Amino acid sequence: MAEIRIGVVGCGGRMGRMLVSEAQAAGGFRVVAGSEAPGSPLLGKDVGELAGVGRLGVAVAADAASVFKTAEVVLDFTVPAASIAHARLAAETGRALVLGTTGIDAAQGAAIREAAKRAPVMWAANFSLGVNLLLNLVEQAARALGEEYDIEILEMHHRHKVDAPSGTALVLGEAAARGRGIDLKSRSERVRDGHPGARKSGNIGFAVLRGGDVAGEHSVIFAAPGERLELGHRAGTRAIFARGAISAARWVAGKPAGLYDMKDVLGLKR
Ligand code: NAD
Repeated sequence: MAEIRIGVVGCGGRMGRMLVSEAQAAGGFRVVAGSEAPGSPLLGKDVGELAGVGRLGVAVAADAASVFKTAEVVLDFTVPAASIAHARLAAETGRALVLGTTGIDAAQGAAIREAAKRAPVMWAANFSLGVNLLLNLVEQAARALGEEYDIEILEMHHRHKVDAPSGTALVLGEAAARGRGIDLKSRSERVRDGHPGARKSGNIGFAVLRGGDVAGEHSVIFAAPGERLELGHRAGTRAIFARGAISAARWVAGKPAGLYDMKDVLGLKR
């Protein structure tokens, strides 16, 4: 089978570099393009050397449009504003986009959904197998347990993470809300400080920890008088997200326009 030509926007970032090295390790891919933010000191450097996999003969470009011209599938783990520009390029060129950036707001989410009408877009806040299974388990538990079980979502990530709560914590919240048949937006408690008063029954609470090099830990706690059920996931290495994104790239290549997620790749859709 022909190799899948991939491009990595933000190829100098922590995830960007890992995507290049995991694509090389997986086989069946050729990294043909990479870009970085305009003005980045990494422009012009070799994408493979940055990722520690040796020279690939592909220079880091400032022009994301050139990545979409050259690659069949573009992987994007950057920042929300850049991802929106990349989604528009996917729509213009029809190229497949694997999108992992988190911290995307509602208006930006709408722009991604719009782009998915014209290009295949694989969008996931978390590309690990374990977390995608956890989403199903949380929805199931929330459906089975009534409002006397308070739902709290706790996450911890490394000190460099810029958004909070994590995109994964939010999709876990959405899964719990779906199970309960409630709207997460109007029923979540994102910050507690000072004198917030007693916990409101039926709300979903979030708590955030930051420190060190933690790749990503999430717990969903269902607490009732007398018992507590905890469902959780611990990522030991960020490589699991890169590997998942590479499997997603393989899956989405050649698919028709549409919005896809990891449940499609893992066969978890009901
Ligand atoms: P990072 O800061 O190390 O990397 C982001 C890179 O994007 C940087 O190199 C930056 O220069 C680059 N960038 C910014 N603007 C750009 C532009 N216009 N064009 C090209 N490149 C641009 O961050 P990171 O730790 O690699 O994480 C990146 C994103 O991926 C975050 O939102 C993070 O939460 C998310 N993430 C998602 C998953 C998942 O499974 N979905 C897993 C890990 C991280």
